[in-house]
Amino acid sequence: MHFDVVIVGGGHGGAAQAAQLRQRGFAGSLAIITAEPELPYERPPLSKEYLAGEKSFERMLLRPPSFWTERNVEVLTATRVTAVDAAAHRLTTTAVENGGGDISYGQLVWAAGGDARRLGCPGHDLAGIHVIRTRADVDALKAELGAPCHVAVVGGGYIGLESAAVLTKLGHRVTLFEALDRVLARVAGPELSRFYQAEHRAHGVVIETGAQVAAITGADGRAAVVVLADGRSIAVDAVIVGIGIVPAVQPLLEAGARGGAVGSPGGVWVDDHCRTSLADVFAIGDCALHANSFAGGAEIRLESVQNAADMAATVARAITGDPAPYHAVPWFWSNQYDLRLQTMGLSIGHDQTVLRGDPATRSFSLIYLKASKVIALDCVNAARDYVQGKALVEKGVAVAADALADTETPLKAWHPA
Ligand code: FAD
Repeated sequence: MHFDVVIVGGGHGGAAQAAQLRQRGFAGSLAIITAEPELPYERPPLSKEYLAGEKSFERMLLRPPSFWTERNVEVLTATRVTAVDAAAHRLTTTAVENGGGDISYGQLVWAAGGDARRLGCPGHDLAGIHVIRTRADVDALKAELGAPCHVAVVGGGYIGLESAAVLTKLGHRVTLFEALDRVLARVAGPELSRFYQAEHRAHGVVIETGAQVAAITGADGRAAVVVLADGRSIAVDAVIVGIGIVPAVQPLLEAGARGGAVGSPGGVWVDDHCRTSLADVFAIGDCALHANSFAGGAEIRLESVQNAADMAATVARAITGDPAPYHAVPWFWSNQYDLRLQTMGLSIGHDQTVLRGDPATRSFSLIYLKASKVIALDCVNAARDYVQGKALVEKGVAVAADALADTETPLKAWHPA
């Protein structure tokens, strides 16, 4: 089998890649190879409405099945790429249905995302320990969580907190363990962490910070007790682990692609057109390690729908002969209880934080500055600030802290002329 463009991964990046290529008039043969059995679907609802039972899987499909056939995009589901021969432009695959085989490509787009990171401590592989990355993960979790029970959530990032909110709403008792001294420590300032910790506690979630899980012990082969490094033991009925991802780039690295340096967030390195170091191979989305101008040029990976879609657009331009470097303001959202958090920019390296509004009203924004310039916003139930804050981040506008804090003046007042 040969395709002019092969996309590995049928997640947000892969689906956007195929759609963008066709939209830009790419007429060559095009395939998506994806390890999951489903057609491309949205991942964010997995820890939100799908876990809550409020959204059906059908409503999570990124495109109706006819979209792919009408645009002549071959979607090979339940098929995994196990090796890349970059010189021969050939992939080795294994497939559930026909065993797989070799597929050759003209150009390759690696959009394989990542696998949920697992615990490494004793007992990490007991039954009853779950992750939330795929539909199958959430279906397995939902099948186990029947009557209200005690669920341990390991990790106070977005996925851990969102699951805690949903499970609490479903009537389960939740204890969340975070190894650092606050939740959301890697992505937000301490003010936001304090706000979310208070919200979760008010909803009955027990939050243990500085809590390193040292082991999970079982009863009848199932997780039953979380043991912390300080010696405490907490009896639980199930465990959800939300401690990040391991970028799914092994076949590409084995083929000689440059990865991240030791100490980097890993993944596969790409330039500002999302090209890897291998000829005719691009990488996009969660697995793409790139120098980001909104992170002061640091090499980072972004794990967001926005980044996957915008990188797909960058590659579509490169493949269709109209290249433009990747330069998109990062944005993200998270829903917990009745709180909609929307973030714009990256707060990494900020030296000042401005509070705009009153957290007690449950509608406010935190604005992050670096050398007096706006670099990021975290907006809680404050959509107007989020929308109007974009231009400030994009242009790195310098605004006085007291002016930003004044809720009587809309942020657009500070837009550059
Ligand atoms: P993915 O969407 O992960 O797709 C990668 C695909 O590649 C997968 O289907 C995988 O099975 C497949 N694959 C991997 N290896 C191979 C291989 N060797 N061969 C074939 N196929 C392979 N982002 C937001 O912006 N907002 C949110 O609110 C939000 N919530 C989230 C909630 C959850 C529970 C999760 C898991 C993620 C959330 N994200 C959110 C992040 C967002 O979903 C990801 O950033 C996005 O899916 C990345 O897209 P991707 O294409 O890089 O990877």
